[in-house]
Amino acid sequence: MSNNIRLRFAPSPTGPLHIGGLRTALYNYLISKNLGGDFIIRIEDTDSNRFNKNAEKHIMESLEWCGIFADESPIIGGPFGPYRQSERKGFYTKMIDNLIDKGDAYYAFDKTNELDELRKASEKSGNTFIYNWENRMNFKNSLTLSKEESKSYIDKGDYVIRYKTYDEKQGSEITVSDEIRGKIKINLKLLDDKIIFKKDGMPTYHLANVVDDHYMKISHVVRGEEWLPSLPLHYLLYKSFNWEPPMFAHLPLILKPSGKGKLSKRDGEKYGIPVYPITWREPEIEFKGFKEIGFESTALVNFISLIGWNPGDEKEVFSLDELINQFSIKRIIKGGAKYDYDKALWFNQEHIKKISTDKITVRALNESDITKEINKKKIDDLISLAKDRVDFQMEILNECKKIISYDKKEIRSNSKEIKLTENILGIIEGFIKKLEDIDNINPNKLKEIYFDMLKNNDVKIGQGMKSLRVLLTGKTSGPDLFTLTEILGKDKIVIRLKKSINIIND
Ligand code: GLU
Repeated sequence: MSNNIRLRFAPSPTGPLHIGGLRTALYNYLISKNLGGDFIIRIEDTDSNRFNKNAEKHIMESLEWCGIFADESPIIGGPFGPYRQSERKGFYTKMIDNLIDKGDAYYAFDKTNELDELRKASEKSGNTFIYNWENRMNFKNSLTLSKEESKSYIDKGDYVIRYKTYDEKQGSEITVSDEIRGKIKINLKLLDDKIIFKKDGMPTYHLANVVDDHYMKISHVVRGEEWLPSLPLHYLLYKSFNWEPPMFAHLPLILKPSGKGKLSKRDGEKYGIPVYPITWREPEIEFKGFKEIGFESTALVNFISLIGWNPGDEKEVFSLDELINQFSIKRIIKGGAKYDYDKALWFNQEHIKKISTDKITVRALNESDITKEINKKKIDDLISLAKDRVDFQMEILNECKKIISYDKKEIRSNSKEIKLTENILGIIEGFIKKLEDIDNINPNKLKEIYFDMLKNNDVKIGQGMKSLRVLLTGKTSGPDLFTLTEILGKDKIVIRLKKSINIIND
């Protein structure tokens, strides 16, 4: 597409994709598609210490399972590649030189342990150590050392590069803008001189991110709230390079099920709930994903879409296409939203109801437990009944079997449990006679006949229904009983009821 709308998802491959990351990807995808633009995946792998070789695969497979497909990515390429930052080193070194030449960045030669000492000392006295405009002239850097001294460090590669966030020649306040939070004023004097280039020859996140967003022509940056504190630095970098910043939107946190604090991977174990779209394996432990638990990917997408976004009406169940049509940045909420697993299950049930029964029907036709009990023509009706009663699609066939099962033992024990009376047995015997005279079962008609019989004999509907259910299935609860009679068919119910009465009278 060429309408200049380009959004990206830019994960760091430091670990698996959790639902927070999935939501960021989804929102970027939905906004780009809603506006008729492109969705790009860029892998931000500049931090070699935290690199995890299995992470990218997990991220890409999770997105694919959820139906979130990129127009450009490290896998399919595109006109603005490469799409892995480790393959884009050349872009960053060029831009770093540009910042140094302008005087907006400088080399710093301080040893990590020296700075750590200072950090500790500050903490002891209750302060936070910060390397910035106030004290940068007290350190070992290209602003304080002679050209020759600096050069000898630089030649050895023994340096980092820091961004000069503020100096007294400029105003100390900037205003940054966020589509969700509005305008935010920032006092630059309070910020540090962030490292933008590391000793290992790689840029840090901040520089690489801004350079790539610019060169990849990103129009909107939509990312987690944890990046909001970095926004002033990103604005300054855009200004240093003389580039127009994109639009920014920082998404609210996903909170723990308790509503207190940010959801973490440990909460998965703690609450026994999935936090990854697909399973993630570590040497000692496996974290089951939504997919492997049995969720429909459409249900997960729907569930996630509403953690942080409000469609503006009562509608809750959305397909991906419906989300694309309706999604807008304007309706992203500011405050954190909690992860409610029961709600995820509810969405799954809603999405199961929408799936076509064709494939399940084929499987059901191969199950003798089912075909032995009911006419093939009734299988779809049975599946519809079962669909309403399960959390996961994979439970449907078993539920079908359970619904139509008939168990002598259960009949004995449950008829005692519900205190089946002689009076009701008599009514049911009469009901069997009426059934024998009927050609085809009409559930409503049957219900009317049975209810009339109960009324005429002063038996409560609840008691009468429970008794009929136990005699027909052995169970004390289940789906709508008269719909079930239609599925089982007249012959089967007459046989079952007679058999049950014999069992009880035995
Ligand atoms: N690599 C960053 C992350 O993993 C991207 C943040 C951004 O989208 O700017 O969260």
